[in-house]
Amino acid sequence: MTIEFEYWWLLALPLFFTLGWIAARVDIKQLLSESTALPAAYFKGLNFLISDQHAKAVDAFSEAIEANTDSLELHFALGSLFRRTGETDRAINMHLNMLDKKELTENQKSAVKAELAQDYLKAGLFDRAEELFIGLDDTRYRQPALCALLEIYGREREWAQAIATATDLERLSGVPFRIEIAQYYCELAMNDIIAQRQDEARNYLGLALDANKNCVRANVLLGDLEVSQGAHQAAIAHWKRIEFQQPEYLGLVAGKLLKSYRALNVENGGQLKDGLAQLNTYLETYKLPTLMSVLYEATLNEEGAEKAAKLARNELIRQPSLTTLDQLLQARAMADETQTQGSNQDIQLMQQTVRNAIGNRAVFHCNQCGFRAKQHHWQCPACNAWESLPAEPSETISREMTIKKK
Ligand SMILES: [Zn+2]
Repeated sequence: MTIEFEYWWLLALPLFFTLGWIAARVDIKQLLSESTALPAAYFKGLNFLISDQHAKAVDAFSEAIEANTDSLELHFALGSLFRRTGETDRAINMHLNMLDKKELTENQKSAVKAELAQDYLKAGLFDRAEELFIGLDDTRYRQPALCALLEIYGREREWAQAIATATDLERLSGVPFRIEIAQYYCELAMNDIIAQRQDEARNYLGLALDANKNCVRANVLLGDLEVSQGAHQAAIAHWKRIEFQQPEYLGLVAGKLLKSYRALNVENGGQLKDGLAQLNTYLETYKLPTLMSVLYEATLNEEGAEKAAKLARNELIRQPSLTTLDQLLQARAMADETQTQGSNQDIQLMQQTVRNAIGNRAVFHCNQCGFRAKQHHWQCPACNAWESLPAEPSETISREMTIKKK
């Protein structure tokens, strides 16, 4: 009996061997066809992408997908390409089809949903994007989902939700969002200021300072609130705190400070001199062009052209600037009116030339996207970054001047 069994086993051995050999060959063949079909079309697509031939890249990726219908990565590459070429409807349809037809694991479903949410975001369908991104909880897509949600809430000006999302994101990523959170509180305060709800606004501004003790905007707004209620002394106190936060922003409140000192001056007398002295100290310490401009105008109005010319001359010695030269020439022209007409005309001519050269070209360059703004914004109008514009504008010379220089 035992002999018979062993005999049968020996006969079966070559058969198993043959079957195994065939199976292995089939596998290898399939593997080979996959690994050769994928890179050819895929790399063709990449090549078109690099040379910015988006339509051809779409064709190549579509071809690659036909050979590899199961490859999620290829679908995602094509979807991202659709988004980039503005064909968000095609991306949406493809991803919806995948969710419908494909037998996907939970992880893969999350991956497709993350792509679909990006499609909706790009298409401006914020409600649908938001719903999907919120659903991507507790997966490895949580962090990018929170980033996208933050973008949505920022665009839709949903500041309370933006604060909650940024706080989550901060906890998850370890990247601080203090500047942004404080700005969101300032935005909430702005809404209350417009609606004349001073107490609520004050409360939000306090929270802004709690979130970021260096939030200059909160102190600017707190001062504005006090002014709206006629409390100039309190307003000045808020604005003076900016020196201990980020002194480079003092130029933003220089005009406001002087106005409040002037208002107090009308009531009691003597405060305007204090104000000018305060701005002078700031100018000597921080050397900000905006401070100089405010101080120059005030000195011209309050103390006359001689004093203004002296201020401009001293400033010009300290740091050369076309704006200050313009101020010096203007003050000189005004102070020297008694001089011979010809000499005064010369000064006026020089001033006009200098003013033409600088024009009204003070610009604030966004340090994130390079956008040039004519006035200061807390949020860049182009890239939506917060506090990315400098506190002081840069002085640029007009194009005519630079061309002539060449
Ligand atoms: Zn920008």
